[in-house]
Amino acid sequence: MRFPVANPVLGKSELKYLQKCLDSNWISSSGALIAQFEEKFAEAFGPGKAVATNSGTMALDLAFHSLELSPGDEVIVPDFTFAGSVSPVCRAQAVPVYCPPAKEHWNMDLNALEPLINSRTKAILAVHLYGQPCDMVKVMQIAKKYDLKVIEDCAEALGAKVNGQKVGTFGDIACFSFFANKVLTTGEGGLCLTRSEEWLEKLLLYRDHGMLPNERYWHRVIGFNGRMTNLQAAVGCGQLESVHEMIEKRKQIHCWYQDVFSDESYFFPIKKGDHIEDVNWLESPVLRPECSLNRDQLCEELLKEGIDTRPFFYPLSSMPAYDKFGTTHANALFFSSHGFNLPTYTSLSKKDVHWIAKKVVELLSLQYKEGSGVTCRLKIP
Ligand SMILES: *Cc1c(COP(=O)(O)O)cnc(C)c1O
Repeated sequence: MRFPVANPVLGKSELKYLQKCLDSNWISSSGALIAQFEEKFAEAFGPGKAVATNSGTMALDLAFHSLELSPGDEVIVPDFTFAGSVSPVCRAQAVPVYCPPAKEHWNMDLNALEPLINSRTKAILAVHLYGQPCDMVKVMQIAKKYDLKVIEDCAEALGAKVNGQKVGTFGDIACFSFFANKVLTTGEGGLCLTRSEEWLEKLLLYRDHGMLPNERYWHRVIGFNGRMTNLQAAVGCGQLESVHEMIEKRKQIHCWYQDVFSDESYFFPIKKGDHIEDVNWLESPVLRPECSLNRDQLCEELLKEGIDTRPFFYPLSSMPAYDKFGTTHANALFFSSHGFNLPTYTSLSKKDVHWIAKKVVELLSLQYKEGSGVTCRLKIP
C-alpha cells in the first residue's frame, strides 16, 4: 500500500519518554507519566481535569456510568456515528434515541433534536464526526432549557473549535480516543476531561473498580479497570510535544486536497457555519449522487493505484445490534453511502496529496459500463 488512510508518526520524543518509563520499571498504571500526561493534556485542551483511560470507548463508558442512568432513561445520540460512541450508552442501561444528521453536514440536525426530548430524556451525546464539530453553542442552549447532561465525543476532533472555543470544554464530560489513527495516539488509549470536581470523583471511581483513591478494596459501585498504562502515557507525553503542529499540518493537508477538489463539481458541498473550525481528522469528501462512479467503485479503483480509503460508517439504525432503537433517516443513508475518507497523516507531502487528489478526479472523469464480467471504462467527452 503506497498511501494508507492513517499512519502515526512516532519519533525521538516518544522514545525519550518510553526510555524514562522503562528505566523507572513502572509499566502498568502506577507510573508517574500518567499524571504528567493528564496534566499536560488538560493544559493544552482544557480547562478541566483529565482522567486517562485504556481506550476512547472506556472513556465513554466511564462518562455514561458517571451519569448514573436508570433503565428506561433516554440519551439522544447521532444515528450517524461510529458504534463505539453509542455502545457505552447501552452498557449504562439507557436507551439511545437517534437524531438524524442535518442535510447540510453529517453531524446531528439540531432542529430535529429538540422534538426528541421528553420526560425520560437525561442526556445528549454530541459527537464531533470526522473532525467536524457539532454546533456546541446550540447544543448547550437546548441542554440548559431542558436540564440535560451533555457528553462530548471528541475522539475524531482533537483541536477543533466552535466560536473559538475548543471542543471538549462545552459539555459536562468530554471523551477522547488515542487509537493509532487518531490525531494524537498512545496505541490504544483515551481520556475524559471535565471541569467539575463531582464528575471527576465519579470518573475516578468507575475507572478503578468502583474504589475511591483513599478507600482501597472498598467498592462503592461496580466499576471497570479503565486505567491507562505508564507505557501508553509515555507515548502520549511524546505526542503532546508536537500536537499543535500536528493539528496545523492536518489543516494544511485539507487545503492541499482542496487545491484540486474545489474546482470540481464531483463533491457535495458541506455547509457548517463560519464559527465551526474543523481539524481534518480525515479528509472526508462526499460524492454527489450524479457521479458516474459510485463510492465503492471509486474506492476499488483507488486501491488499485495504491491509495487506501475508508467508506463512511453505516447508520447505527441499519445494523442488527442497534436497529431496535430507531429507523434510518434519508440523510443518514445519503452520507453513509456517498462519503469516504482519504489518506490523512502528518508525514504526507504537498506532492503526495496533490497526486492522490488528482487520481480521484481522474477516475471520476471516467465512466463505467458494466459488461459480461468485464468492466470497460469510457472517457466522458
Ligand atoms: C475511535 C472512536 C471511538 C472509540 O475510541 P477507541 O479508542 O477506539 O475505543 C469512539 N467514538 C468515535 C467517534 C471514534 O472515532
